[in-house]
Amino acid sequence: MEYDDMLDRAMEETPEIDGTSERFEVPDPDVRQEGNATVYENFQSTCSRLGREDDHVMKFLQNDLGTSGHIDESGRARLTGEFDADRIAASIDDYVDEFVLCSECGLPDTQLEREQGALLLRCEACGARSATSE
Ligand SMILES: [Zn+2]
Repeated sequence: MEYDDMLDRAMEETPEIDGTSERFEVPDPDVRQEGNATVYENFQSTCSRLGREDDHVMKFLQNDLGTSGHIDESGRARLTGEFDADRIAASIDDYVDEFVLCSECGLPDTQLEREQGALLLRCEACGARSATSE
């Protein structure tokens, strides 16, 4: 796997990574109310930062907030109901803890993999694989 080789090389060139020293930076949600919907303006760039599919993050947000929603044609998330930026940020934090950060080393260099119907988080940095709740 070429991609893995590249990552291995990148890791070797990176001196002394301490998994606990640096908190993974997630963009603050930029949200506004529109009628009875909450529009999450920087949803798409946040998903890119997380390296995760928009649809997967959206599904998590809907479950976590207990509401319905969709991604509009501009890539914004539209959620039914009123949610402030702090509430959205808390949900994204939960998503990151579960689906982005490695539970072993705490680094965000992970991939989601489906194996026999279960969604696993595989860490490129330390090789750990952990089950997610999905
Ligand atoms: Zn790890």
